[in-house]
Amino acid sequence: GLTSRLQNVFSKLRGKGKVSEDDVNEAMREVRLALLEADVNFKVVKDFVAKVKEKAIGTEVMQSFTPGMVIIDIVNKELTELMGGSQAKLAKANKPPTVIMMVGLQGAGKTTTSGKLAKMLLKQNHRPLLVAGDIYRPAAIKQLQVLGEQIHVPVFSLGDKTSPVEIAKQGLQHAKDNGHDYLIVDTAGRLHVDEELMEELRQIHAEIKPDEVLLVVDAMTGQDAVNVAETFNKELELTGVVLTKLDGDTRGGAALSVKAVTGCPIKFAALGEKVDALEPFHPERMASRILGMGDMLSLIEKAQANIDTEKAKEMERKMRNAEFTFDDFLEQMEQVKKLGPIDQIMDMIPGMGKLKQAKDLKVDEKQMSRIEAIVFSMTKEEKQHPDIINHNRRKRIATGSGTSLAEVNRLIKQFDEMRRMMKQFSDMMGPKGPKGKAL
Ligand code: GDP
Ligand code: MG
Repeated sequence: GLTSRLQNVFSKLRGKGKVSEDDVNEAMREVRLALLEADVNFKVVKDFVAKVKEKAIGTEVMQSFTPGMVIIDIVNKELTELMGGSQAKLAKANKPPTVIMMVGLQGAGKTTTSGKLAKMLLKQNHRPLLVAGDIYRPAAIKQLQVLGEQIHVPVFSLGDKTSPVEIAKQGLQHAKDNGHDYLIVDTAGRLHVDEELMEELRQIHAEIKPDEVLLVVDAMTGQDAVNVAETFNKELELTGVVLTKLDGDTRGGAALSVKAVTGCPIKFAALGEKVDALEPFHPERMASRILGMGDMLSLIEKAQANIDTEKAKEMERKMRNAEFTFDDFLEQMEQVKKLGPIDQIMDMIPGMGKLKQAKDLKVDEKQMSRIEAIVFSMTKEEKQHPDIINHNRRKRIATGSGTSLAEVNRLIKQFDEMRRMMKQFSDMMGPKGPKGKAL
C-alpha cells in the first residue's frame, strides 16, 4: 500500500547521514510513483512533488543531521495542505435549524452517514431530526427508521408516495415546530450521476436552502470518487465531502485528491458500518496516517470522549515519552477495549498497523485475553522493568499463564517493538525532533 511504499522511501533516506540532491530526486520519483499507484489524480501528484522538491532542495535539508526526518516533515506538511490544511467544521445556521442535505451515489453510505451524523450531534447535546427523502430504493425508509430507533433520533417520513421535495419541505417545517436544531435530509442516489437525479436534488436544494450540502463518497472507489465529487460540485455547490469506507482497503487516492480537484473540503471520515464510526476529518492526522506515523491524536481524542480525561492525559504523556510498562500496557488494553473494534484502534497506533500486517499477529478478542493472561503472570517487578524478563522467567510466565514460551517471547518482542516505535514517533514529533529544530 501507499504507506508501506512511502515508509520504504523514507527509511532509505533515514539511513543516510547526508542527503544529496540526487537522493532527494530519487526519493521524490518514488513518492510520485507511490501516489500514482494509490490512485491520486496525476495533476495533483505533479504539483505535489514539485512543491516538496522545491522545499526540500530550498531548505537546509542537506545540512541537517536528520535529512530523512526533515523530508518526512516536509512531505507530511504538504500532504496536510493538500487535504485542506486544517479541519473543516460543520456549518451552523444563524437561526436554527441548521439544514444538512446528504447527497451521493447509491451505496456510497448516505443513509448510514446520516445516522452517524445524527448520533454525533446528539452526543453534543443537539436535537437532530432525520428526514427520509429516499423514496426509490426499496426499504430505504425502513433503513433510516431502524437507524433512528437505534440511536434515539426521530425520523420524519411521509412514506414513498409523496415527492422527496415535499417530504424535505414538510420535514423542515416539522423541525421548526418541534425545536430541532439540526435537520439531516437523506436523499436518493443512483448508480451513476444522471440529470433526473440532479434535477430532483436541485429542487430539494431550492426548497430547503441547506446550510450544508455534504457529498458522501466511497473512498474505495479512488479517482472515481473524485470525478463524482467534481460533477456534483458543478451541479449543486457542495459545502463538504464525507469520505466513507476508509476502514476498507482504500489506496488513499480519494482522500488525497478530493480537496485539490474540487476545492471542497473533506469534513468527515467514516471508518466502519457501526453508528459511531464517524470522525471529523483532520488533514494533519490523515497525513500522518498515510505516512505510517499512526494516528495518535485521533486515538487520544477518541479516548477522551470515552475515557476519563485524567487517564487519557496520562496515556498521552506516557505514549509521548515512551515510558510505559507492562502495567500501562494492561491498562491501555482495558481502555482500548472501550474504544471500539480492536483492529481499528490498532491501526491508529504508530507501528501497530505494520505489526498487524505481520502474519503472526492476529488481533482479536481471544488473542487479547491470552495476552492479558501472560501479563497477569508477571511479577510486579517484571511488569515495571520488562528488561529483566530472561529465559527462565519467560518459561515460568508461560507455565503460569497456560500459554507457551513462544507466545510469551512474541509478546515481549512486540512490546519492545511498540516501545521503540513510540519512541521514534515521539522523537519525530517532540520538541527535540526535527519539528523543533529550525529547518
Ligand atoms: P446509500 O445508498 O448511500 O444510502 O448507502 P448506505 O448508507 O445504505 O450504505 C451502503 C453500504 O455501505 C451499507 O452496507 C453500509 O453498511 C456500508 N457502509 C457505509 N459506510 C461505511 C463505512 O464507513 N465503512 C464500511 N465498511 N461500510 C460502510
Ligand atoms: Mg440510502
